Amino acid sequence: MTAAADIVHRKLAPGKLVIASHNKGKLREIAELLAPFGIETVSAGALGVPEPEETGTTFIANAELKARFSADLTGLPALADDSGLCVEALGGEPGIFSARWAEREDGSRDFGEAMRRVHERLKEQGPEAGRDAHFVCALSIAWPDGHVESFEGRVDGLLVWPPRGENGFGYDAMFQPLGHDVSFGEMDPADKHAMSHRADAFAKLVAAVFQP
Ligand code: IMP
Repeated sequence: MTAAADIVHRKLAPGKLVIASHNKGKLREIAELLAPFGIETVSAGALGVPEPEETGTTFIANAELKARFSADLTGLPALADDSGLCVEALGGEPGIFSARWAEREDGSRDFGEAMRRVHERLKEQGPEAGRDAHFVCALSIAWPDGHVESFEGRVDGLLVWPPRGENGFGYDAMFQPLGHDVSFGEMDPADKHAMSHRADAFAKLVAAVFQP
Protein backbone atom coordinates (compact mmCIF):
# COMPACT_ATOMS: atom_id res chain seq x y z
CA MET A 1 0.00 0.00 0.00
CA THR A 2 1.26 3.52 -0.76
CA ALA A 3 1.07 6.02 2.11
CA ALA A 4 -0.46 9.39 1.17
CA ALA A 5 2.88 11.10 1.90
CA ASP A 6 4.62 8.84 -0.66
CA ILE A 7 2.41 9.86 -3.58
CA VAL A 8 4.38 11.80 -6.18
CA HIS A 9 2.23 14.51 -7.75
CA ARG A 10 2.93 16.08 -11.11
CA LYS A 11 3.88 19.77 -10.90
CA LEU A 12 2.30 22.36 -13.14
CA ALA A 13 4.91 23.97 -15.41
CA PRO A 14 4.72 27.76 -16.07
CA GLY A 15 2.35 28.60 -18.93
CA LYS A 16 -1.33 28.82 -19.67
CA LEU A 17 -3.97 27.01 -17.60
CA VAL A 18 -7.49 26.61 -18.97
CA ILE A 19 -10.27 27.06 -16.41
CA ALA A 20 -12.84 24.52 -17.54
CA SER A 21 -15.94 26.27 -16.20
CA HIS A 22 -18.71 28.39 -17.67
CA ASN A 23 -19.99 29.46 -14.24
CA LYS A 24 -19.14 33.18 -13.73
CA GLY A 25 -19.17 32.87 -9.91
CA LYS A 26 -16.72 29.96 -9.99
CA LEU A 27 -14.51 31.59 -12.66
CA ARG A 28 -14.20 34.71 -10.50
CA GLU A 29 -13.39 32.74 -7.33
CA ILE A 30 -10.88 30.46 -9.08
CA ALA A 31 -9.12 33.46 -10.71
CA GLU A 32 -8.91 35.13 -7.26
CA LEU A 33 -7.53 31.98 -5.64
CA LEU A 34 -4.93 31.53 -8.43
CA ALA A 35 -3.87 35.20 -8.52
CA PRO A 36 -1.01 34.85 -5.99
CA PHE A 37 0.66 32.14 -8.14
CA GLY A 38 1.13 34.25 -11.26
CA ILE A 39 -0.50 31.58 -13.43
CA GLU A 40 -1.89 32.76 -16.74
CA THR A 41 -5.48 31.58 -16.95
CA VAL A 42 -7.94 31.48 -19.83
CA SER A 43 -11.54 30.30 -19.59
CA ALA A 44 -12.81 27.35 -21.62
CA GLY A 45 -15.58 29.63 -22.93
CA ALA A 46 -13.04 32.13 -24.32
CA LEU A 47 -11.40 29.26 -26.26
CA GLY A 48 -14.75 28.12 -27.67
CA VAL A 49 -14.80 24.86 -25.64
CA PRO A 50 -18.39 23.79 -24.91
CA GLU A 51 -19.60 22.25 -21.65
CA PRO A 52 -19.52 18.44 -21.64
CA GLU A 53 -22.41 16.45 -20.21
CA GLU A 54 -21.78 15.72 -16.51
CA THR A 55 -22.38 11.97 -16.45
CA GLY A 56 -20.28 11.15 -13.37
CA THR A 57 -21.82 9.93 -10.12
CA THR A 58 -19.35 11.71 -7.80
CA PHE A 59 -17.95 15.25 -7.56
CA ILE A 60 -14.46 13.97 -8.47
CA ALA A 61 -15.71 11.99 -11.48
CA ASN A 62 -17.43 15.10 -12.86
CA ALA A 63 -14.45 17.39 -12.18
CA GLU A 64 -12.14 14.92 -13.97
CA LEU A 65 -14.50 14.59 -16.91
CA LYS A 66 -14.68 18.40 -17.36
CA ALA A 67 -10.92 18.93 -16.97
CA ARG A 68 -10.16 16.04 -19.38
CA PHE A 69 -12.60 17.41 -21.99
CA SER A 70 -10.96 20.88 -22.03
CA ALA A 71 -7.39 19.51 -21.97
CA ASP A 72 -8.14 17.19 -24.92
CA LEU A 73 -9.73 19.95 -26.99
CA THR A 74 -7.18 22.72 -26.27
CA GLY A 75 -3.91 20.81 -25.86
CA LEU A 76 -3.32 22.78 -22.62
CA PRO A 77 -3.52 21.74 -18.96
CA ALA A 78 -7.05 22.39 -17.69
CA LEU A 79 -8.50 22.89 -14.22
CA ALA A 80 -12.13 22.04 -13.46
CA ASP A 81 -14.29 22.35 -10.35
CA ASP A 82 -17.32 20.28 -9.50
CA SER A 83 -19.09 21.34 -6.38
CA GLY A 84 -22.39 21.41 -4.62
CA LEU A 85 -24.43 21.62 -1.48
CA CYS A 86 -25.15 18.40 0.48
CA VAL A 87 -27.95 18.50 3.03
CA GLU A 88 -27.67 15.77 5.66
CA ALA A 89 -31.44 15.43 6.29
CA LEU A 90 -31.99 15.04 2.53
CA GLY A 91 -29.51 12.16 2.25
CA GLY A 92 -26.89 14.46 0.70
CA GLU A 93 -29.16 16.09 -1.89
CA PRO A 94 -28.93 18.19 -4.02
CA GLY A 95 -25.24 17.12 -4.08
CA ILE A 96 -23.90 16.64 -7.59
CA PHE A 97 -27.28 17.91 -8.88
CA SER A 98 -26.96 21.32 -7.16
CA ALA A 99 -26.88 23.26 -10.44
CA ARG A 100 -29.73 21.16 -11.89
CA TRP A 101 -32.05 22.02 -8.98
CA ALA A 102 -31.86 25.63 -10.21
CA GLU A 103 -32.65 24.91 -13.86
CA ARG A 104 -35.73 26.47 -15.45
CA GLU A 105 -37.43 25.00 -18.51
CA ASP A 106 -35.73 27.57 -20.78
CA GLY A 107 -32.30 26.39 -19.55
CA SER A 108 -31.58 29.45 -17.38
CA ARG A 109 -30.86 29.07 -13.64
CA ASP A 110 -32.74 30.49 -10.69
CA PHE A 111 -31.00 29.91 -7.35
CA GLY A 112 -33.76 31.71 -5.43
CA GLU A 113 -36.00 28.88 -6.61
CA ALA A 114 -33.35 26.21 -5.90
CA MET A 115 -32.98 27.48 -2.31
CA ARG A 116 -36.79 27.42 -1.91
CA ARG A 117 -36.81 23.79 -3.10
CA VAL A 118 -34.20 22.85 -0.51
CA HIS A 119 -36.22 24.66 2.18
CA GLU A 120 -39.51 23.00 1.11
CA ARG A 121 -37.94 19.52 1.00
CA LEU A 122 -36.52 20.07 4.50
CA LYS A 123 -39.96 21.18 5.78
CA GLU A 124 -41.42 17.93 4.38
CA GLN A 125 -38.99 16.04 6.65
CA GLY A 126 -40.80 17.45 9.70
CA PRO A 127 -39.75 19.66 12.61
CA GLU A 128 -37.11 17.22 13.84
CA ALA A 129 -35.05 17.43 10.63
CA GLY A 130 -31.65 18.98 11.30
CA ARG A 131 -30.33 21.97 9.34
CA ASP A 132 -26.81 20.51 8.94
CA ALA A 133 -25.28 20.80 5.50
CA HIS A 134 -21.90 20.97 3.84
CA PHE A 135 -20.45 22.22 0.60
CA VAL A 136 -18.07 19.95 -1.32
CA CYS A 137 -15.61 21.03 -3.99
CA ALA A 138 -13.64 18.65 -6.19
CA LEU A 139 -10.81 20.17 -8.25
CA SER A 140 -9.11 18.28 -11.06
CA ILE A 141 -6.19 19.26 -13.28
CA ALA A 142 -5.90 17.26 -16.49
CA TRP A 143 -2.88 17.37 -18.81
CA PRO A 144 -3.16 16.77 -22.57
CA ASP A 145 -1.18 13.50 -22.21
CA GLY A 146 -3.94 11.99 -20.05
CA HIS A 147 -2.46 12.56 -16.56
CA VAL A 148 -4.94 13.89 -14.00
CA GLU A 149 -4.67 15.03 -10.36
CA SER A 150 -7.79 15.49 -8.16
CA PHE A 151 -8.43 16.97 -4.72
CA GLU A 152 -11.56 17.37 -2.58
CA GLY A 153 -12.45 20.05 -0.02
CA ARG A 154 -15.38 20.58 2.32
CA VAL A 155 -16.93 23.15 4.65
CA ASP A 156 -19.61 22.33 7.24
CA GLY A 157 -22.45 24.60 8.26
CA LEU A 158 -26.14 25.13 8.92
CA LEU A 159 -28.93 26.13 6.56
CA VAL A 160 -30.72 29.40 7.38
CA TRP A 161 -34.09 30.66 6.18
CA PRO A 162 -34.87 33.12 4.70
CA PRO A 163 -31.70 33.53 2.59
CA ARG A 164 -29.42 36.35 3.75
CA GLY A 165 -26.98 38.55 1.85
CA GLU A 166 -26.18 39.47 -1.73
CA ASN A 167 -22.53 38.37 -1.93
CA GLY A 168 -21.37 35.10 -3.48
CA PHE A 169 -23.50 32.93 -5.75
CA GLY A 170 -25.60 29.77 -5.87
CA TYR A 171 -26.72 28.63 -2.41
CA ASP A 172 -24.43 31.04 -0.48
CA ALA A 173 -27.28 33.08 1.02
CA MET A 174 -28.77 30.08 2.87
CA PHE A 175 -25.49 28.61 4.18
CA GLN A 176 -23.93 29.69 7.47
CA PRO A 177 -20.53 28.10 8.10
CA LEU A 178 -20.01 26.54 11.54
CA GLY A 179 -18.64 28.97 14.12
CA HIS A 180 -19.98 32.06 12.29
CA ASP A 181 -23.17 34.07 12.61
CA VAL A 182 -23.27 35.34 9.02
CA SER A 183 -24.12 33.42 5.84
CA PHE A 184 -21.67 33.08 2.92
CA GLY A 185 -23.98 35.58 1.17
CA GLU A 186 -23.34 38.18 3.89
CA MET A 187 -19.66 37.45 4.30
CA ASP A 188 -16.87 39.50 2.77
CA PRO A 189 -15.66 37.43 -0.24
CA ALA A 190 -12.10 37.37 1.16
CA ASP A 191 -13.40 35.76 4.36
CA LYS A 192 -15.33 33.14 2.36
CA HIS A 193 -12.17 32.39 0.32
CA ALA A 194 -10.26 31.78 3.54
CA MET A 195 -12.57 28.97 4.72
CA SER A 196 -14.69 27.64 1.85
CA HIS A 197 -14.80 24.13 0.40
CA ARG A 198 -13.09 25.59 -2.70
CA ALA A 199 -10.32 27.11 -0.54
CA ASP A 200 -9.85 23.74 1.22
CA ALA A 201 -9.56 21.88 -2.11
CA PHE A 202 -7.29 24.64 -3.45
CA ALA A 203 -4.91 24.41 -0.51
CA LYS A 204 -4.51 20.67 -1.21
CA LEU A 205 -4.03 21.27 -4.94
CA VAL A 206 -1.50 24.07 -4.41
CA ALA A 207 0.54 22.00 -1.97
CA ALA A 208 0.62 19.03 -4.36
CA VAL A 209 0.78 20.58 -7.83
CA PHE A 210 2.01 24.20 -7.60
CA GLN A 211 4.74 24.01 -5.01
CA PRO A 212 8.21 22.93 -6.09
P1 IMP B 1 -21.47 22.35 -11.01
O1 IMP B 1 -20.23 22.05 -10.22
O2 IMP B 1 -21.17 23.20 -12.20
O3 IMP B 1 -22.26 21.11 -11.30
O4 IMP B 1 -22.39 23.31 -10.14
C1 IMP B 1 -22.41 23.23 -8.77
C2 IMP B 1 -23.46 24.16 -8.18
O5 IMP B 1 -23.30 24.04 -6.76
C3 IMP B 1 -23.27 25.61 -8.50
O6 IMP B 1 -24.00 26.02 -9.60
C4 IMP B 1 -23.81 26.27 -7.22
O7 IMP B 1 -25.17 26.38 -7.27
C5 IMP B 1 -23.50 25.28 -6.14
N1 IMP B 1 -22.26 25.73 -5.48
C6 IMP B 1 -21.01 25.25 -5.65
N2 IMP B 1 -20.13 25.97 -4.94
C7 IMP B 1 -20.85 26.92 -4.32
C8 IMP B 1 -20.48 28.00 -3.46
O8 IMP B 1 -19.30 28.25 -3.13
N3 IMP B 1 -21.50 28.76 -3.03
C9 IMP B 1 -22.79 28.54 -3.37
N4 IMP B 1 -23.17 27.59 -4.18
C10 IMP B 1 -22.21 26.77 -4.66
